[in-house]
Amino acid sequence: LEERARSSLLRFRHRLEQDIKPSYLMDHLISDGVLTVDEEERIKTQPTRKDQAAALLELLLRKDNRAYISFYNALITEAYEDLANLLHGDLPQISQSALKGSSDGCTPTVQAVLSQGGVPQRPVVFVSRLELVNRVREKLFLVEKAPGWVTVFGMAGSGKSVLAAEAVRHQGIIEECFPGGVHWLSIGQLDKPDLLAKIQSLCFRLEQSMDSQSLYRTPNSLDEAKERLRFLMLRRYPRSLLILDDVWDTTVLKAFDIHSRVLLTTRNRALADSVSGVKYQVEVESGLDENKGMEILALYTKTEVCALPEDARSIVRECKGSPLVVSLIGALLKEKPNRWHYYLRQLQQKQFKRIRKSSSYDYDALDQAMSASIEVLPDEHREFYKDLTVLENDIKVPAKVLSVLWDLEPEEVEDILEEFVNKSLLFVDNHNKPYLYYLHDLQLDFLVEQNRTQLESLHNKVVHQYQQHYRDGPPTSGDEECLYWIRFLTHHMAKANLSKELYSLMFSLDWVSIKARIMGPAHLINDYVEYGPVLDKENSDVRSHFQEFLSLNGHHLEQRPFPDVVQLALSQPHSSEVYRQALLQAQGGARTG
Ligand code: ADP
Repeated sequence: LEERARSSLLRFRHRLEQDIKPSYLMDHLISDGVLTVDEEERIKTQPTRKDQAAALLELLLRKDNRAYISFYNALITEAYEDLANLLHGDLPQISQSALKGSSDGCTPTVQAVLSQGGVPQRPVVFVSRLELVNRVREKLFLVEKAPGWVTVFGMAGSGKSVLAAEAVRHQGIIEECFPGGVHWLSIGQLDKPDLLAKIQSLCFRLEQSMDSQSLYRTPNSLDEAKERLRFLMLRRYPRSLLILDDVWDTTVLKAFDIHSRVLLTTRNRALADSVSGVKYQVEVESGLDENKGMEILALYTKTEVCALPEDARSIVRECKGSPLVVSLIGALLKEKPNRWHYYLRQLQQKQFKRIRKSSSYDYDALDQAMSASIEVLPDEHREFYKDLTVLENDIKVPAKVLSVLWDLEPEEVEDILEEFVNKSLLFVDNHNKPYLYYLHDLQLDFLVEQNRTQLESLHNKVVHQYQQHYRDGPPTSGDEECLYWIRFLTHHMAKANLSKELYSLMFSLDWVSIKARIMGPAHLINDYVEYGPVLDKENSDVRSHFQEFLSLNGHHLEQRPFPDVVQLALSQPHSSEVYRQALLQAQGGARTG
């Protein structure tokens, strides 16, 4: 460890020992490879939290610069911003030799920049589409000169995200074009509160990596967030690139219309028409060319391309070269290498002739591939996969959520998810600890279509399992699992038509207080708007009491430390249900306290 870093750990040791929860932080250190499981075990033998903290710091002092950086990052992720700020001034500069070299000709510096910016890694089986990548890079070199937009468009599953990530995996692009770094944001289908939350966390990420401590409060509205981002990009991160993955909506794009450099992927080629500045486009053909498709099958089955059977080419043709579909079939063949003909026939026999809402894309090949992959799952796993139908588009979940849903140990859940991932039925984001799992949106479409008649009961199961598991009250830890429930419980209740559950939850000051503390008020307000019609059937006065309370106090609820909600609620009109509940709690508190 560098002298400065050592000294900083020693200086702030006392504060750190007071405040940190070592068990959470150690997860991050282990996933960064700077702490071993043995070391963690040893620290955990200490009797108290504080002793454990002391032991952890003692150990960090004996480690290298990477450990300091990893510890700093862990503090940020676990929301110890003040502590992270203390350590920030003495962050060591990582020398290039300290990072491990990489095999794909992409330098350690490039990799560090990409991983800091959240750019996804290559898929396990990857073929390069050089001509296409070069076309995107050419455009990126053009926006280097003057701010503007590069749109990568094409149909779902055509490999746009993989392509965007690949385009910036390049020394010249990173070092010459965008020395200010690249910043990846997965967008998907968002509503306004989600968009605000995305920009808030981007601003936070950008501010945290700056030298000066942030003096600004979190932006509360989209306009404010946009201004904040404009300021950051212009003043603090000149010559950097924003990558917006899978944009659907022009409102999203307008929020990023701040005279910066943007690479975006979308299905809609006209999306950038609504924003100002120079624009370039690259079209991704819907399919890989045949040889690339063959290469994917060869990689999955560990065969030479020239040794692939005749059926291989037909399979690629039948999939129309869709990288997503070829990957699904490739994963199947990896396990059953003599089923070439069988899968080809399955693809050809279009058993399912369902009518699609959207006729713009040809989903047939995907349907066939998905059905085939699902069919080879063991029965009980097939049921588990079906349960994923209830997830929202572009939402990533940790295994723990599914462990509640399936009533299984997290380890068992991880094994099942790993099986899905291996079959390309599910994707995993392993930048995160815990890992987060998600479906490609075509896969979700497929599941929803296939289980259309059972949606209500599937959502019902989620709510039921949640209630079994959290009988004593909602989770409040703020970890990924807790975030999921707090954010989506109402959604599942609404989809399950459980109106009684929905209004008992939403007409409760306790729930309001928990959700506001964990997620801020935006999602909460949105819930009252979205489920207003359901709630009004029970009691429209009470619904409006809650909604008024939130609109009046939204700005307070943004603040940290979090205000006393009961106190806030007591200043509501005495006729308000919010007031009534607060009074009850205050009286209860006075009696017991
Ligand atoms: P899109 O963003 O267009 O919806 P993705 O980039 O997410 O599509 O790609 C979908 C899937 O297709 C990936 O998860 C991966 O399995 C496969 N895929 C895409 N591009 C490639 C590639 N170049 N090599 C191998 N597989 C790919």
